[in-house]
This record gives sequence, structure tokens and C-alpha cells, in this order.
Amino acid sequence: MDGDILAKELLVKKDIMNLDYEEMEEFIHSMGEKTFRAKQLYEWIHKKLVCSFDEMTNISKEFRASLDKKCTIESVRIIQIQKSKDGTRKYLMQLLDGNTVESVLMKYKHGNSVCISTQVGCRMGCKFCASTVGGLIRNLEPSEMLGQIYQIQHTTGERVSNVILMGIGEPLDNYENVVKFIKMLSDERGLNISQRNITLSTCGLAEKLTELVDKHLGITIAISLHAPDDVLRKEIMPVAKKYSIQDIIKACRYYIEQTGRRITFEYSLIEGVNDMPEHARKLAILLSSLNCHVNLIPLNPVNGRMGHRSSRANVERFKLMLEKKGINVTIRREMGSDIDAACGQLRNKNKGGKST
Ligand code: SAH
Repeated sequence: MDGDILAKELLVKKDIMNLDYEEMEEFIHSMGEKTFRAKQLYEWIHKKLVCSFDEMTNISKEFRASLDKKCTIESVRIIQIQKSKDGTRKYLMQLLDGNTVESVLMKYKHGNSVCISTQVGCRMGCKFCASTVGGLIRNLEPSEMLGQIYQIQHTTGERVSNVILMGIGEPLDNYENVVKFIKMLSDERGLNISQRNITLSTCGLAEKLTELVDKHLGITIAISLHAPDDVLRKEIMPVAKKYSIQDIIKACRYYIEQTGRRITFEYSLIEGVNDMPEHARKLAILLSSLNCHVNLIPLNPVNGRMGHRSSRANVERFKLMLEKKGINVTIRREMGSDIDAACGQLRNKNKGGKST
């Protein structure tokens, strides 16, 4: 069958991986089947991670055939893998409508971490970021976020223990789908990844962050701050025109109060822009009374985007100045620097979106 016709046919089918456990039960009932079928199906899809109905051997051939007619089960497909010397792998994933996103697998001693995309493109416009070139195309469905993790676990045969929402897109700009995704990912009837091992990184949509805290999920929050004051932040992150640093800090305090956990601030160091002693001093004052941790990221320069990477000496100086003020700091370990590690670069290389 012609690829385009196949894609259109798939788009009108129901995406069964999008159904949470309760929705799966309703769906099964609507097909005139008994409740226990929902458990079987949910397990095949979310625990055993099969990619076709054919593999569901405890389900009758007839029922499998009618599911196949009505539903799709493979929301994303790996179309390219880049392997780094350090074991990091970057995946280009294709969605049913032809759009592509990126995911990264990082291997640590404590387990495998997968960094996923939450949107096709991004509308936040951060000046140094590759993902925002071309703007936002669309939000990802929960199935498309789950699918990135399932595909990686399935193809490597190794359990994914940590998930980071730090790929293409702004997770809080796709709020409902991201919340549903987190619930499904941590559901013990599915992959059962502990919410503690899920990190959501946001450029600071303050209202949505407060709303998220009220959901009482046990996830870890990271804020992309990148500047110690609003004037500089507005220059590098257009979202700062809508939310001030104080709006964000207020939401962070609420998170810390409600969860008793510390918050992470990400700070990408751009040479001569935000890596000077005055910036470190201001940042230390800003964060002095917060239960937090700062993760310094030497900029990964992207062709055509703003900025150069800070020198090692500047990164170390910045770190020391914060530490002297009693702030907890780490420098992000660079992984996959020999592949297109900055998110959005691989997708841009592949014709900036739809790959045909
Ligand atoms: N939209 C979310 C998550 C995606 S970006 C957010 O803003 O947090 C993940 C992190 O990588 C963010 O801190 C982002 O600012 C940072 N980042 C993006 N491009 C980068 C680059 N070229 N070099 C260094 N950090 C980058």
C-alpha cells in the first residue's frame, strides 16, 4: 500500500495506547467483551510492550482481528539511531502523521534514563535552542510520549528506570496530555516507573506549575532559569515577558512547601551573556533562601542560534561563586557530545519536521 494512504488509514483508527486503565475497561465493554480482557490488553501494551495485536497470544484470533481493524498500537517508530562512544543513543522517532521527534537514552550506573519530547516543535522561542526553530507544530499525545520510552526499552531489552521530560517541547504547554502520560507511566499496571524517577523540566509557565503541584504527583521539577534577572532573561527567553522570575520563584516555593522536596534550576552558560561573576552573585542572592540545587549546563552551540559555550574556567568560576554562598551546584555531565546532543538538532537535520 502507498505510504500516504496507509498513514491516513492509521490516523482514523483509535489509538489504543492512549487509553488509561479505566478507559480501556470502558472500551472493552463497548466491544461487548468481558472486563478481564482490559487487564490482558493493558498488560500487553504497557507492560510487555508489544507492537502488534498478533503478539497477544492469550487473546482470540477473532478479537485480535477486530482490534486490528479498529485500532492502532504503534504510535511512534524509530527511524534513525545515533550512537555515542559513551553509550548514549539518540533516536529519531516518526509519528503516524509523518512528523518526527527526538528521544535520548543515557546509561548511568544507577540505571537507564530516557529523555523524551513532549511536543513537535516548541513555541517558547528560547534564543539558543534548536527545538524552537519552526515553532510549534502540535502537541504529543500521551501514547506518543509513552511510545518513545516503550520503543527504547523494547529495542534495547533493558529496563528504563528514569524518565526526563527535557526533549523537544515545553511540557507545561501540553499540560493535560503530560499529566495523563505521567499517571500512565507510573501506573503499577503498566511500566510502573516511580514518579520520583520522573523529572519535568519547564521554562517556567508559573500558573501551570502551581496547577501541577496541586495534582500531588511525586515527580521532580526542574526550572530552566538561565538568567538571574528579568532584563537579561527577556533577552534570551521570550517567555520571561509573560512570567517574571518572582512569579516562578513563588510557584517554586509552593512546590517546596507542598512536597518538602528541593527544586532544581537549570542554568545554561553562554559565554559573555550570563556567565560573568555579576550573574553568579545575583543568582546566589536570588536563590539563597530556597531549598534548591543548580545544574550548570555549558551551552551546546547550535548553528544559527544564539551564543557560544562558556570556557571551562568560567564554568568553574561560576560554580565556585555559588558554592561559596552555600548553594548546591553540579555541572551537567556531558553525554553524547559527539552526536547531535542538543535537543532539536537531529530533527532539524531531517528537513526540519516531516520526513517523507
Ligand atoms: N521546554 C523545557 C524542556 C526542554 S529543554 C524547558 O525549557 O525546560 C531542556 C533544557 O535544555 C532546558 O533547560 C533548555 O533551556 C536547555 N537547552 C536547550 N537548548 C540548549 C542548548 N543548545 N545548550 C544548552 N542547553 C540547552
